[in-house]
Amino acid sequence: MQTQSAIVKKKELIPGQTTLLEIHAPHIAAKAQPGNFIIVRVSETGERIPLTIADADKARGTITIVFLVLGKTTALLNTLKEGDSILDLCGPLGKPTCIEPGGTVICVGGGTGIAAMHHIAKGHWRVGNKVAAIIGARTKNLLLFYDELSQFVHEMFVSTNDGSFGHKGLVTELLRNKLETDPTVSEVVAVGPVPMMKAVSLVTKPFGVKTTVSLNSIMIDGIGMCGACRVTVNGETRFTCVDGPEFDGHAVDFDELNARLATFKPMEKESMESYCKCAHHEKKD
Ligand SMILES: Cc1cc2nc3c(=O)[nH]c(=O)nc-3n(C[C@H](O)[C@H](O)[C@H](O)COP(=O)(O)OP(=O)(O)OC[C@H]3O[C@@H](n4cnc5c(N)ncnc54)[C@H](O)[C@@H]3O)c2cc1C
Repeated sequence: MQTQSAIVKKKELIPGQTTLLEIHAPHIAAKAQPGNFIIVRVSETGERIPLTIADADKARGTITIVFLVLGKTTALLNTLKEGDSILDLCGPLGKPTCIEPGGTVICVGGGTGIAAMHHIAKGHWRVGNKVAAIIGARTKNLLLFYDELSQFVHEMFVSTNDGSFGHKGLVTELLRNKLETDPTVSEVVAVGPVPMMKAVSLVTKPFGVKTTVSLNSIMIDGIGMCGACRVTVNGETRFTCVDGPEFDGHAVDFDELNARLATFKPMEKESMESYCKCAHHEKKD
């Protein structure tokens, strides 16, 4: 647990949509490993949200998070500036990524998941694994962490839906091609939107390649007590916070996960609308 952590760097990666924060949190930075996440509280009365540790620098005592501005809490977090403090952070949470030497690892990332996946690619690179990254976005301007990721991969493949950069199409097309041509692949790790992780798992299944996905189920306490983040894996109930967030992609019930993620949509919409109204009034006053 770390309280009152100062933001040492803020960078809008995609203005108004995706932001990087480097936060002074030496206790978390000292222990953070690829795959870990934190739970953030921005206000006394607000909700707790999980965000992946996209990088950690033990020497500087900082961690980096990259988040999509989606609803009220991420919008509030995005109002903070360099020098401001985040109310509290809890972490590092979750089981770290299993990183062992051997073979070629393909890291597949989509959207904000590319930043989270970067930490995993870095871990595999450091133990000497051959790392191939396959990243995708709707269009070139929405592609995150290309330069950061390039430092820790041997091969990089990019796809955009509109063809503005790299292959025109989906990451799964590049993945299938790589699996068909490279017999050294020992594992595929996917981090991104649920439909992407489901599609990646369907592509890898016939190849019999170990497939790890990082799940983003709704989470509250992050320490295994509330059960909000439960998912079905291999027909059994597991908690994303303490049993994951990474699971065998071939065993996850993605349709149930998708349905559970949508459970609170009307309340989330209402909460965002009232936040926007308040923010608008404050600007006028
Ligand atoms: C282990 C884990 C790691 C994550 N890492 C990242 C990350 O690195 N970057 C990033 O942008 N997002 C990440 N997420 C998702 C992030 O937590 C949600 O986008 C965030 O909680 C949205 O909150 P909000 O109030 O802004 O939006 P809301 O309007 O409240 O919700 C928008 C959508 O976000 C999801 N969501 C809402 N509340 C939660 C919650 N408490 N827990 C999980 N999902 C929720 C739901 O799908 C919801 O429909 C992660 C989720 C998990 C479980």
